[in-house]
Parts: sequence; C-alpha cells; structure tokens
Amino acid sequence: MIKTSRISKKNPPHETISMNNTIEKLAEYFTKFPGIGTRQSKRLVYFLLSRDDQFVKTLAELILDVKRSVGQCSGCYRFFPKETRGQQELCKICTDPNVDTSILMVVEKDTDLENIKKMGVYHGLFFVLGGTIPILDKAPKERVRAAELVARINTISAKNTSLEVILAISATTEGENTTLYIQKILEPFITKNRLKVSTLGRGLSTGTELEYSDDETLKNALKNRG
Ligand SMILES: [Zn+2]
Repeated sequence: MIKTSRISKKNPPHETISMNNTIEKLAEYFTKFPGIGTRQSKRLVYFLLSRDDQFVKTLAELILDVKRSVGQCSGCYRFFPKETRGQQELCKICTDPNVDTSILMVVEKDTDLENIKKMGVYHGLFFVLGGTIPILDKAPKERVRAAELVARINTISAKNTSLEVILAISATTEGENTTLYIQKILEPFITKNRLKVSTLGRGLSTGTELEYSDDETLKNALKNRG
C-alpha cells in the first residue's frame, strides 16, 4: 500500500531555517578566507556536502593537524614544519649556519618567500611582513609587522658590521605604498645601524604581484636592485 506523502503540508518554515543555519554558518566561515566571496563560500559548502564522509573527515583532521605540526618562526615570521617535540622558535632558514646574515629580504607573504627560496639565487635572511598597506590607510601599523621588522633589524645589526635590507614587495599600487611606508620607518636606522635599504629592480613590470613573476624576472629584479 502506498502512503501519500504529507511533507508539503507539514513542512514548518522554522525547519527549513534551522537546516540552512548550519549551511549559512559554514558558508560565513568560508567568507573569512582570502578571495572567497559569499557566492563562492556557498559553492564550497555544497561541494563538501556532495563528497563522502571520509573526504570530509580527512579534511577536518588535516586542518587540525596543520595547526599542531606547523609553527611560526619568531625570527622571520614564516610558518614552518616543526621537526622536534616541544617549542621550536626558529625555522631552518633563520638557524642555517651558511645563511648570509648581512642581507635581509622583506616579503609580503610566505608564498613569496618560498618562491624566492626555490630559485636558489638568494642566500640571505628573510622577513615576512604579513600583508600590504592600501593607499590612505588610517592604521598602516596594524596591516604589517613593522615593529617586529625593526626589532629583527636591531637584533641582526647587533651581530653584523653592515646590513642590507631588500624590500621585495609587489609592484602593485598597494605594494608600492607599502614599500614607501617601510622605507620611511627604516630611515632612522640607516645611519644608526649602518643600514642599506634597497628595492627590487623594476624588471618587475608595474602591477605585477611578486607571486606571479617568473623565475627569470625575479632573478633580474634581484640582480638589478638599488
Ligand atoms: Zn625563520
């Protein structure tokens, strides 16, 4: 005997809302990701719903694991895989005995550092600024690790006779604005810490984000810095 469905009659409006709440909540989380808008965040949620339990479980575990097994270096501020148990403050680059401690390259983000490191032509220290500053921004200090950069420069300069700081920031409007801001902040240290401040040679065409530059362009930009 076939029972007739009464769902359409019984479906209370609050049930629809409560079901959507979890979807909405997760979608809202995804909008916090860089470059993810409201529409894309919903697509991600529905994508997850379409996959099997194992996929979602592995993803959830990986998210937890990445927080546990990766640390942030107190020298260059990059994220690095922890190799030892317990607290490990500095990454491999910062503790490498062969690293050239007379040069410090300032980049926006971890991926820029990785790209430059991969090229194999730069063997100095790094510093990850953690962002860029939009034009006319009211709180530039909160956008980048400016105070941390100054502290880092002071620590390195205490052990070196000279230090060159290379500002390797994107040739975009925001990037240029950031370079100007950092140059201004570092000005007092030029004589105080015998500091040389240089920027990447503009083989990097205007508007280019560092992460989209190819190896050759970056190598030239590094060689032609000034
Ligand atoms: Zn480091």
